[in-house]
Amino acid sequence: MDQERVWSGQAVAPGIGLGPAFLLRRERKTVQRSEIADIELELARLDKAIERARAMLELHRKRAARRFGDVVARIFDTHLMILEDEPAFDEIRELIRTESVSAQFAAFKILDNYARHFEKQEDTYFRDRAQDVRDVCRRLVGQLDGEDDTVLSDIPDEPCVLLAAELNPTDILRLPQDQIIAVATDAGGATSHTAILTRTLGVPSVVGLRDITTSVQRGDIVVINGNSGKVVLHPNPDQLARYERKHREYKEFVKSLEDIRDQRAETTDGHSVLLNSNIEMPSEAAAVLRNGSDGVGLFRTEYLVLTHGGLPDEEMQYNAYRNVIIALEGRPITFRTFDLGGDKAFPGAGIPVENNPFLGWRAIRVGLDRPEMMKPQLRAIFRAAVHGPAKLMFPMISTLEELYRAKEVLQDVLAELEADGIEYSHEVPVGMMVEVPSSALLASRFAPHVDFFSIGTNDLVQFTMAVDRGNEQVAGLHQPFNPAVLNLIKMTVDAGRMAQIPVSMCGEMAGQPLGTLLLLGLGLDELSTSPSLVPEVKKLVISSTLAEARKLAEESLRLDTAPQVRAHLLEYMKSRFKNLPIWFEPGT
Ligand code: PEP
Ligand code: MG
Repeated sequence: MDQERVWSGQAVAPGIGLGPAFLLRRERKTVQRSEIADIELELARLDKAIERARAMLELHRKRAARRFGDVVARIFDTHLMILEDEPAFDEIRELIRTESVSAQFAAFKILDNYARHFEKQEDTYFRDRAQDVRDVCRRLVGQLDGEDDTVLSDIPDEPCVLLAAELNPTDILRLPQDQIIAVATDAGGATSHTAILTRTLGVPSVVGLRDITTSVQRGDIVVINGNSGKVVLHPNPDQLARYERKHREYKEFVKSLEDIRDQRAETTDGHSVLLNSNIEMPSEAAAVLRNGSDGVGLFRTEYLVLTHGGLPDEEMQYNAYRNVIIALEGRPITFRTFDLGGDKAFPGAGIPVENNPFLGWRAIRVGLDRPEMMKPQLRAIFRAAVHGPAKLMFPMISTLEELYRAKEVLQDVLAELEADGIEYSHEVPVGMMVEVPSSALLASRFAPHVDFFSIGTNDLVQFTMAVDRGNEQVAGLHQPFNPAVLNLIKMTVDAGRMAQIPVSMCGEMAGQPLGTLLLLGLGLDELSTSPSLVPEVKKLVISSTLAEARKLAEESLRLDTAPQVRAHLLEYMKSRFKNLPIWFEPGT
């Protein structure tokens, strides 16, 4: 019997998935030079392979369009365009003719050259295209070899557990969700955008496993525990039975939460909070409704840019924003202006390679430097807001000057809309993310200038603890329960209260059941998290009192270290909610 092995990583999307592994290997496939006898036959073979590859891509394009809409489906257009690149394919044919080499070798040699050329470019957009060229190359060589390649969209039709060294956000958008039981990756941290997206898809996921892909073979049975962060290869029969039971129990619990979908999130002593969802794509509005959210607390609009492969124009943005507003059937939505940069490269913007991208040219900094980019977005949002309740917020504000300047740009935009006689909403509250320690520390000075605060703990923790949120080596220091972070949250909440503006939290901490009561007790008015996590958080809110939450928060604030706070919360939450199969602590 195969030896059982256990890994411990970061649980990033809840639930338990077990099944046969599918490995997404990205190592460069090299193709040996081989000579052929019949050149015409080889050229015909190449044409046939191109045709088959094209047919596969069309199929994947249709599948993506059905699941995510046209914007995502366009990713496959890039691959189709590469396949139709005449100069590149002329070079391949020429090489076959002049050197009598196999079509595999010629395709590999020429496309690999193109990919290398892209990789050397400064612009992240072109560097990302290298990946696309390699995907097309793998697909084509696979067709010529008559074998399955491991291009992401070729995941088998049977359900499987996806293992990969790393996945980028665009990969996740391409996943054939119905076939993926669970996801596990070597790289990544809990708040990387990859993790956030797998959570959005509602697929149990664990990241930061370091070397798992080197030890697992395709078809091996693996268990991914997205609640505890454990991954088990070749589980023994007893363990398998235990996981199957846990999986069943958890699924039944999640199913039972449908009963509270239309209930307000109100504590038993009558205190209401709003439970909102974070979304990345307009198509996720359905999940917001399905999970009983009060609205959308954060729409990460930059995903429109990432999936479009460039900046969508005002009209395209207007349509996307209007559609999502209409799909929410009257529930409010908060649009955040593009938060590009960091781990969300901005295609075509010429962002140079930065040593510290999270601290670099990112978010509002890009927006203020490029008003030609920010203005059409503001116009589109204010025009779309005519169709339903919408708010606007600026990401990563670190100084008051930035806020003043962002509001000035907005005033210019509104004046232009007015002068052009274009209809727009006059009722859009304007707020800011509090996700940089400087703005949390000065929250009382920012508060008079905004209509609301939204605390982004993913970045706030990253900057407070000086820890890269996507780096598994230092993941242990990404501590939302560190007293330094709790104090910054409290300062922000208190400043909001003084100025009588609502304070929401939209970082991943807002969806962590371990912290639900603590956050209530700290005085947050709204929590916004992935749609699939809303029901569990709601269950905890409606089973608690504000009084106990305040007491728990006071006790937690008196502690000195993150482990102490976690231990205290864990002890309380586990005994208080022992009848609910919620995993309060990843890693157990
Ligand atoms: C955050 O930083 O907490 C946040 C919500 O924004 P993002 O994860 O998109 O950086
Ligand atoms: Mg952020």
